[in-house]
Amino acid sequence: MKRREFLKNGFLISIGGVLIPKTILSCRKETLFEESSFSGKVIIIGAGAAGLYAGYILKSKGIDFQILEASNKYGGRIGKNDSFADFPIDNGAQWLHGKNNILSDFILSSNTKITLDDTENMYWFKNNLVKELPKNPEIFDEDNLPDVSFQQYANQKEFGDDYKYIIENLAGDQGASASKLSAYWNHQEEINWVSGDDDYKFEQTYFDFIETQIAKPINNEIKLNTIVKSIDYSSEIITIIDSNNQKYTANKVIITVPISILKKNKIEFTPHLPNEKTEAFSKIGMGAGMKVFLKFSTQFYDDNIVGGSICAAYANEKIGKIGEDNVLLAFIMGEQAEYLTSLGNDDAITLKLLEELDLMYNNQATKSFISSYVNNFTNKPFIEGAYSYSTINIGNSREKAAESIDNKLFFAGEAMNLNGHHQTVFGAAETGYREVINILKNNK
Ligand SMILES: Cc1cc2nc3c(=O)[nH]c(=O)nc-3n(C[C@H](O)[C@H](O)[C@H](O)COP(=O)(O)OP(=O)(O)OC[C@H]3O[C@@H](n4cnc5c(N)ncnc54)[C@H](O)[C@@H]3O)c2cc1C
Repeated sequence: MKRREFLKNGFLISIGGVLIPKTILSCRKETLFEESSFSGKVIIIGAGAAGLYAGYILKSKGIDFQILEASNKYGGRIGKNDSFADFPIDNGAQWLHGKNNILSDFILSSNTKITLDDTENMYWFKNNLVKELPKNPEIFDEDNLPDVSFQQYANQKEFGDDYKYIIENLAGDQGASASKLSAYWNHQEEINWVSGDDDYKFEQTYFDFIETQIAKPINNEIKLNTIVKSIDYSSEIITIIDSNNQKYTANKVIITVPISILKKNKIEFTPHLPNEKTEAFSKIGMGAGMKVFLKFSTQFYDDNIVGGSICAAYANEKIGKIGEDNVLLAFIMGEQAEYLTSLGNDDAITLKLLEELDLMYNNQATKSFISSYVNNFTNKPFIEGAYSYSTINIGNSREKAAESIDNKLFFAGEAMNLNGHHQTVFGAAETGYREVINILKNNK
């Protein structure tokens, strides 16, 4: 649900058969795979896009590795549901945001079918659905923005209360509430974005691509149901202990767990991580987020509805899919997701959304409602939130968070992306690739 500036950049190069954006490489890295004599063992913690892609690259280079994943499935914030509708739906990541990134050529060459999603917004404004707003709320792409929240900046620009949930939608795309997302830092990070500003939907799901092309080839190296509790990197060989007290050893560890898990110290490190590191974790935001799928007997709704006070972004889930079912996605982030989570159960969440849609569409929602499916990332174990966002005063925290420690611990995952591609699947994959490069670079 993102619209990005398109910065053309002569972008992809091939290294060892893997297509890599130039932005994550400096000049001599092309030869690293050939030059590196690294022959130790790598353990990757977390089997989301970052961990899986790191494993995929290590496998292609014949390097010994294992992935330890806490949950009972791989994919992390990518997943699918085959049973809710007569077409597969994406539980988590759904759109391919632009085609200039580490995964896009892989996606296209694997015959994965994707469709451009260029549907138009309808805005819920002053209790009416309108195609255009009196004032353009996209004020967050300007230069020289102050380091204040989206909401504060909108107030400074005299967008009144009528725009509250329209601004909430813009911040929600970034996984945040308008009261918490920094206008300045969000823009600074977006300047680096090179993937393109078109959004594409998968005819199957994003998960299908990740599963068939990346996870399956390394399936034997993934150990599920393995919750890493501690990492001791005090000696040459690193020792990892899981929740069953099972011990694993490695020469290098790539940590790809969500930033929420690191912020909450859910993994104990010996020695303690430097203060600078934990401070950096604490400054990277990660808020509540959920997707609710609502099935109806008729399509009474528009393809995109922006600005609801319960949900700032609804989208027609059928776009780009082959099927008959009418499914509307409620994409809910930040304070709206916190509020709905506080209601305590899925039925209460569904009712609130139906009430809002009834208001917008003259009571048609409840009348034609069939069923709902709530996928709440806020309280999902091992994820605990949506995705990382730029807080006020975040500064260079992502850089600090991503720095390796003692040439033993390496940090990847969407929050550690330094190319403006955080919050995305390919952004996570880029960091997995980057940390494999870092291991090889330091061990020639
Ligand atoms: C609702 C929603 C919608 C999104 N939509 C899009 C989209 O349309 N397009 C897009 O590109 N991106 C989207 N994203 C973002 C995208 O899903 C993420 O950026 C990306 O999948 C993150 O990958 P990752 O590897 O960094 O982390 P994750 O996928 O979170 O993987 C980390 C893994 O670590 C595991 N783990 C945690 N703790 C431990 C532990 N102690 N021991 C072992 N394992 C552990 C977790 O179980 C998890 O599998 C969306 C995300 C959400 C939540």
